[in-house]
Amino acid sequence: MQNDIQNVIDKIKVVTLLHQPFFGTGASKLEWSVDNDLTQTACTNGKFIKFNSDFLMSLDQPKRIGLTVHEVMHVYGKHHLRRGNRDPELWNIATDFQINLCIQDAIDAEKQRRGGVSCMELPEGALLDDKYRGMSAEDIYSTLEQQPPHINHRKTGSCDGDGDGPTSGSCSGDKPTAGNKAGTTSDIGQSWGDVIDSPAGSAAEIADEEQEIEVMVEQAHNLAKSRGKSFGAAEALVSSYKKPTVDWRSVIRAMMQSISKVDYTYQRPHKYGHHIMSSVGAFIPDYHRENVGEIVLAIDTSASVTWDEVQQYLGECQSIMEELQPAKVHIVQCDARVQHVDTFEMGQPLSIDKVHGRGGTNFQPVFDWVDNEMDTKPMALVYLTDGYAPAPSVPDYPVYWAVTSEEQGHLFGEVVSVNISQ
Ligand SMILES: [Zn+2]
Repeated sequence: MQNDIQNVIDKIKVVTLLHQPFFGTGASKLEWSVDNDLTQTACTNGKFIKFNSDFLMSLDQPKRIGLTVHEVMHVYGKHHLRRGNRDPELWNIATDFQINLCIQDAIDAEKQRRGGVSCMELPEGALLDDKYRGMSAEDIYSTLEQQPPHINHRKTGSCDGDGDGPTSGSCSGDKPTAGNKAGTTSDIGQSWGDVIDSPAGSAAEIADEEQEIEVMVEQAHNLAKSRGKSFGAAEALVSSYKKPTVDWRSVIRAMMQSISKVDYTYQRPHKYGHHIMSSVGAFIPDYHRENVGEIVLAIDTSASVTWDEVQQYLGECQSIMEELQPAKVHIVQCDARVQHVDTFEMGQPLSIDKVHGRGGTNFQPVFDWVDNEMDTKPMALVYLTDGYAPAPSVPDYPVYWAVTSEEQGHLFGEVVSVNISQ
């Protein structure tokens, strides 16, 4: 990096650490570089902040810090991990509304401390609207979706439109990622300082990255607090990351979202197709799946799962399914054997009339049902259980266990301890 830019960046870090230690911590931990092809303002994927040097140099120092802090807040808010299937451009707008209110809060708090002075300022056109105060990025997105802003598309960078695969990383996706645009302008303002998806793909990688962020946010908060420079939005963020027990909904959601990033088009066809193809040594991709495929939600209906628990589980699954849009969802009720199956097409509400079963616990029948009754391999199977039973034989599709008891170390796949009453 050129010396003058390096000096500018060093100064941003030092001043931010001094006056806004909560953000300065993150600014110091991220990797900084100039990339004029990737972005015409700035962007982050949770690991780096990349700047357009002309844009950075065109700003005065308070706005440079405002831009930096904005990027740090995308990372603190895990926006690079939470987009799911949402439109990247609208996601950037929604997250900007959420972030800029927090930054405004921090600016106001600093001004109170320093007699009306703040080291930072939001650059021109910042998406700032008090009506979004207290809302999550997801809720703001849903609101915007109902009345989408008119977006003016500007010239894009060097890596747009390279395919229609799932988005991960900086230059993929079904439309140019927001990271390579010159700050999306719209009738509601300008979105500069973008967030792009994390390259983390697997559920484990995403969980690791989330944890790293939570640790970083906590360190940042401790530093800010020790210097008397914390503020409301920082407190709120830290307390949202301090959960007494694991939030199984977000864990399962993250897992499922990681699945939806996998390109299922090239999965082997299930059952007979597989034998035919392998017998002639051919591998033929399955072109029939246009969406994320079918999902099996298994419910252990042995004695101890209550009707309330089942309803709550289905309610959570419903919202996850709305994001994932699987072609079909099969709800399989099983105690010691499969008692009842309901199948729902895309978009149908998930509901069951009653719990069938109440006998002992056995997991294997659900996996046998998948083998015998489904035409395609499921994209994933999520098993809600509080009972103990021997592990079934390992299938060749992802399995997630939402377990309400502790002694399930013998299970394969991803096991999430759930406290369903939380
Ligand atoms: Zn942004």
